[in-house]
Order: sequence, then structure tokens, then C-alpha cells
Amino acid sequence: MILIENAKVLRNDKLISTNILIEENKISAIGDVKSKSDYVIDGRGLAVIPGLFNSHTHAAMTLFRGYADDMPLQEWLEKKIWPAEAKLNEEVVYWASKLACIEMLKSGTTFFLDMYFFPQATARAVEETGIRACLSSAFFDFFSKDLLEVNLKRVEKELKELKNFRVLRAIAPHAVYTVSLEGLQRAMEIAERENIFVHFHLAETEKEVLEFKKKHGKGIVKALDEIGFLSPRLISAHCVWLEGSEIELMAKRGVNAVHCPASNMKLSVGKALNYPEMKKAGLNVLLGTDGAASNNSLDILREMKFSALLQKFYYGADLFKAVDAFRIATENASKAFGIKAGKLEVGWLADLVLINLSKVSMNPCHDLVANLVYSASSECVDTVVVDGKIVVENGYFEGKEKILERFSKTAEKFFAGLV
Ligand SMILES: [Zn+2]
Repeated sequence: MILIENAKVLRNDKLISTNILIEENKISAIGDVKSKSDYVIDGRGLAVIPGLFNSHTHAAMTLFRGYADDMPLQEWLEKKIWPAEAKLNEEVVYWASKLACIEMLKSGTTFFLDMYFFPQATARAVEETGIRACLSSAFFDFFSKDLLEVNLKRVEKELKELKNFRVLRAIAPHAVYTVSLEGLQRAMEIAERENIFVHFHLAETEKEVLEFKKKHGKGIVKALDEIGFLSPRLISAHCVWLEGSEIELMAKRGVNAVHCPASNMKLSVGKALNYPEMKKAGLNVLLGTDGAASNNSLDILREMKFSALLQKFYYGADLFKAVDAFRIATENASKAFGIKAGKLEVGWLADLVLINLSKVSMNPCHDLVANLVYSASSECVDTVVVDGKIVVENGYFEGKEKILERFSKTAEKFFAGLV
């Protein structure tokens, strides 16, 4: 049982001072509550917000932070990332994921959706650090039937193993330029049978869209609809190069689109996800950092700012407000993943972040959400609670130094093996 006393929370756009009681893994009361709690947090000078969702990342790519910058997407993948990824092993993915989990927790993320190799190694990192996650078993088939069969066997095995961990599960066919339509269809069939999510990269570049059209004689979204791939269980990252009719069809099918502004800008994809059209069509938009190789940070507070800046730069100052940035990192993701977090409500999961209002970037505080989106950084994150447990306290994650040391040693060995 944890009692947070005299902390600020947002109610009807106003900051009020209140108490929050956490019992087991849920918020059990908000208001004038007193209780003989095992643990009392003095909330004076702190604001409580719901934990933030990072809805598209490749956690273990912290390994490649600063490894290959300043290149366009295809060259970056083919020359640097894929050759290095071919040498990955479970140990290096485990330590790199652990580093990612700490980075995310320390910047207020309490849930992430991941796509990477060796998801069972990331699952161990998730459980040991206390963050919440949906982990994917990822695959390519490079349009080979044999490779598809081999990889789907591995995927089935990984999905079974992931059942042993406290995580949600997804299957992740990488994208239309690396996976055949048959591969995508089979992935959706597995997802329906297992009742899990499908995690996918969609319409990230113009090249992807044009080449697909040339090969299939129709647009990606239409082809995906014909094979039954558009569904509410689909979480599709990027969604940059989409036409209005495609957005409408995706909204109709209940698909979720993930805005990854920093990665899109850094890899120079040439356009911005069309949030105004998506909002109008009722398409659920989420927020993701993408991996640390293309971001190079997993700080979701910064990502909220990037999302707002990119949308304003591309579509206008008033079509995407601070509150939209906050919503795509909280409520919208909660809806997509069916998790009762992302709101401060009695009966909802105790996934909370306590923000230190005495930090320079939080002052003055005319508008808490505006400060969080446009000004806050991870230094404002004081305490993080996930599933009713304190995982970051006074900005500190216990055991961080040791994890960083083990990560560095493993990474050094990995990169020495690459040359
Ligand atoms: Zn990605």
C-alpha cells in the first residue's frame, strides 16, 4: 500500500492538491484519503501524471546509439544496421534492453511496444526492471517461401516462450518491403488464433509506397485490406505516406497508427504523419520513439515535443496542441492496448509518474501539460510507479551503475566481433 500525500493532479484543467492511495497494483482512492500505509510519499512540490506509453520502439537498439547517423533509411538499414544485426545474440539483446528499460522508466515511460530479435531476452529485462511491455516476435521473409516457413516456426516458439513472462504479446512482420503478402496474412492468422497484437512498419517512405504500387498494381492499404490485415489489433508505425482514402479505410477497420516524429525527421522520410486527417477520420494515433539507432533517445517527454513541433511545422500551429501530444502518449495508447492505465482514475492501474515541479523547466506553471510537452525533460521525473511498485525514486533507478557496466562490457565485445 502506498499513499501519496498533498500532490498536485489535473482535474478539469486545474491543478488541485490531493492524496492518492495505491493498493496492490491499482489506484484505490483519490481525494481526502487517510490510511495507515506501508509507505507514504510526501507529494508537496510534485505533480502526479499517468505513466506514458512508448508505442513503437526497438529497445535493444540502444546498442546502436550513435553507431550509424546521418544516412537515409534504406542505406542506413542495408549498409549498417542489418549486417550488424545478423551478429546479434541473446546476451547482448538482454543487456541493451535492460539499458533501454531504465532509460524509458527514468523519463516517465511505464509501457512500451517493442519489435526486435530474441524477445525472450527483452522479456527478462522487462520483468527485472519492473516496466510494463508488449513484446513482439519479429520476422522477415524477403519474399522466400522457405524463409517464411523457417521464420514462422521460430515465431511460434518465441510466442510460446513469451507466455511465461508478465508481458503482452505481438507478432511483428517487419514491413511490406521485407515481408510477402502471404507472410503478412499468416501473421494476422497467428495473431487472431493467439489473440495478440500485430506490430508493423507502414508507409514510412515514398519509395516503399511507389515500389509496392509498381509491383502489385495497387496501393499498400488496399492490398492489406484484401488479405484481412487491417484490424484493431494492428499497431502500425510511421504511417507517413498515406492518402486520405487510405486513412479513412484504416480508421473504419480500427487500425492504430504510431507517430514517430524524431525518427521520421532524422531519417528524412520527407513528410509528416497526417494527424489532422487522421483525427477527422477517427483513426487512433499513438506516439513512439522508434529505436535508439534512429532517434537516438528513448525519452518520451522529448518525443511529445517533437510530435507537436513536426505537426505544427507541417500542418499549422493550432491543429495539434500540447494536449494532443499528451493524449497520443496516454489515453489513445491505453485504448489501443486495452490497458487500464493512462488516466488517473480510481480502479485503474497504478502506473504513475511524479513530476518535480521545482525544476527550472517546470516554472512558472501556467499550464502543466504545456510544460510537460514543450519544456520538461527526464530530469523532472522524480518517482515512477508501475503496477503499484516504485521503480524510480528521486530520479534514481536502483542498480543502474551495475547494469551500465555490464552493458558496456557486452557491447564492447559485440562490436569487437564486428570488425
Ligand atoms: Zn521501427
